[in-house]
Amino acid sequence: MINQLQEKYQLSLLLLLGSVAVMGVFPFVVIRFLDGNYIAAFIDLTLILGITSLVSYAHRSKKIRMVSAIIAIFINAGAIVIAVANGIESFLWIYPVLASTFVLVKPIEALCINAIAVLSFVAISDIFGTISLSSYLVTTLMLSMCVFVYASHGAKQFRLLEKLNTVDALTGAFNRRALSSDIAAALASAERNNSKQLLTIIDFDYFKAVNDKYGHAVGDKILKDFVKITTAHIRKYDRLYRFGGEEFILLLCQVNEQQHNFIDQLRVAIKQALKTPDGESVTVSFGVAPWLPGTTADTWLQRADVALYRAKESGRDCVVFSDD
Ligand code: GH3
Ligand code: MG
Ligand code: MG
Repeated sequence: MINQLQEKYQLSLLLLLGSVAVMGVFPFVVIRFLDGNYIAAFIDLTLILGITSLVSYAHRSKKIRMVSAIIAIFINAGAIVIAVANGIESFLWIYPVLASTFVLVKPIEALCINAIAVLSFVAISDIFGTISLSSYLVTTLMLSMCVFVYASHGAKQFRLLEKLNTVDALTGAFNRRALSSDIAAALASAERNNSKQLLTIIDFDYFKAVNDKYGHAVGDKILKDFVKITTAHIRKYDRLYRFGGEEFILLLCQVNEQQHNFIDQLRVAIKQALKTPDGESVTVSFGVAPWLPGTTADTWLQRADVALYRAKESGRDCVVFSDD
């Protein structure tokens, strides 16, 4: 979900950057043209057309990260070509372009692109007889480092926000919010590829009795241990969510017949590893609903819930598949 938010944010940044580039550079196309400096007018126009085409391609293709990286390289190369062609008059364009690079790619990637751009300009420009090379190097380095620190801090905060928004604080499993968007994505992928997916509700057996006997803190530790054991057993693209209280959801994608047995093996593994302080096994029951054409999030959860109810009725510590 956060990824979708980040995509939207990155797309709007691209749009903003595209608009600023067009509004900022277009007057210079006209000025250069009226001055008779056709080469400079042509370079500026190429830059505008390049940026607008890339931004609109990003909107259509949704390949935002790749297009952002191309734009980052394109505008740096463009700023250098303009500064070389127009000399000292257009040299200041390098500074906003260096800063904009951090909006487009990861901070460390932006730093590398900036370093290459700054040094390439030193290698090919002849303006360093007029302006001081050391001032140029120090000011571009200061600008890049300041924006690098700021952008790195922003990226760190974004990762933290992503974690807080999608992970259950007690157990470290994904939370219900992540579940909603992942079920929607799983349904879309299942409809598209007709792929087999399983949604499983896992509920602890007699957990109230465990809490009553050992206390809430021990109950919490057992919930955490359950998540560790389960995540160690599932594949990296299967996901475990805390649905609420002592109920969890396991979403298994691309399943085959062996995965049906796998759920029972998981049940046994949990029973063997999940213990109370007295060494008694803590067991869980599974209600499993395979994806069927026409399934919605509600009907999928409902079918798994009915299967779980039957697992409880059958004496608990077992796996029950929905009837359909
Ligand atoms: P059943 O086999 O029928 O599911 O029995 P149960 O006792 O597990 O079911 P019940 O719904 O009666 O009780 C669920 C218990 O789970 C009650 C509650 O104290 C406990 N529980 C829910 N959330 C937490 C939690 O975050 N920490 C701890 N320690 N216990 C929790
Ligand atoms: Mg229970
Ligand atoms: Mg329950």
